[in-house]
Amino acid sequence: MTRLVNLFNYKKTVLSRLERLLDDKSKLAASSDHHSRRRPRPCGITIHTGVGCSYICAYCYIYDMGFPARTRPYPLKPEEMTYALALNPYVIPEKTLAAYGSVTEPFLRETATQALSYMREIYMWLRLPTQVSTKAILTENISKGISSGDPRTSVLVTVVTISNRSVEPRAPDPMERIKSAGEASRAGLSVSLFMRPIIPGITDVEAEKILSLAAESGLKSIVLGSLRVTERILRNLERYGANVGEIRRRLTGPIKGSEQIEIRLSDFKRRIKLIAEDMGFIVFRTACEANVYTHGRYCAMCNMGPCNTNVKPEPIEASDIEDLLEYLGVQYASVEVTNDSIRVTLKGKQEGDKLESILTLATYRRALLKFS
Ligand code: SF4
Ligand code: SF4
Repeated sequence: MTRLVNLFNYKKTVLSRLERLLDDKSKLAASSDHHSRRRPRPCGITIHTGVGCSYICAYCYIYDMGFPARTRPYPLKPEEMTYALALNPYVIPEKTLAAYGSVTEPFLRETATQALSYMREIYMWLRLPTQVSTKAILTENISKGISSGDPRTSVLVTVVTISNRSVEPRAPDPMERIKSAGEASRAGLSVSLFMRPIIPGITDVEAEKILSLAAESGLKSIVLGSLRVTERILRNLERYGANVGEIRRRLTGPIKGSEQIEIRLSDFKRRIKLIAEDMGFIVFRTACEANVYTHGRYCAMCNMGPCNTNVKPEPIEASDIEDLLEYLGVQYASVEVTNDSIRVTLKGKQEGDKLESILTLATYRRALLKFS
């Protein structure tokens, strides 16, 4: 049996062990939760540690998505969340990237214990390469909690402004964030500075200062990220001194209520990247790039890749894919594998979308399906 098939068999074992551990009520809660079926983006499956966020950052879109400004822990217990993920056909042990902190701050007072339990429990069962993004001060407790799960967790500490506190009125002091990030990094955690979102008129103006402070504190890498706005976010940013004229000129679509519209920022990113590289930082274009780098993986899952080309792609042969297709009950005519892609010709009419995602996630290569 090949290694890829082994991973799917291992997942079955996890599921049956958890099934024995959980009662019917827990199993129902987990199986009806969206974590049990949501398709990950290439950057990974986002795992919600709480509902809502009390930091009310001016650029945050979760309030436009209907999340409240009061936080409560996510309603699944850690082993229920693990079970939900194990049910998800797109979650492949050791492979699918896990991202904590997308729609809430994970280490809020109300949710930190649960977030750390999720990270520990999910890693223990499924070994998903872990990443967490946060604005928390990385105390010794939090750092130890993170390391008690995936010891190679990619930790992203967000800083987009030092001086403009109205943009993140309730989040911890950014100077303290950088200081504690440096300490956690010296203590052995893989911490990167997360400059997302880049806010025109604010982040670009302060970028050099933020980077200098991060370098002084000992951080070695940085992730740059874009801004998405809604009508409400645009009003907030105008109030707090962003260059809204510049933002409006860069909208990729008409601004409409709570719809999130991406801002074109590639020139801003290029400028900040040059400054960061001059200071010796490794610059990642995406959060997942930082995650695969930290975990020593080569990744060509999407057209931004390949990423982390310093390491070799996992050796995968056509026979590994053929075994997996047979295991999944898929009829195929031919399989071709390169370092960056898997090409499969399927026999007859078959549902391809799900298979394409599964092959991509399992191999860190783009899967391209044809029908014969
Ligand atoms: S910490 Fe994150 S989730 Fe919370 S308000 Fe700020 S951007 Fe939104
Ligand atoms: S190729 Fe790079 S950007 Fe694309 S999913 Fe992989 S790590 Fe992310």
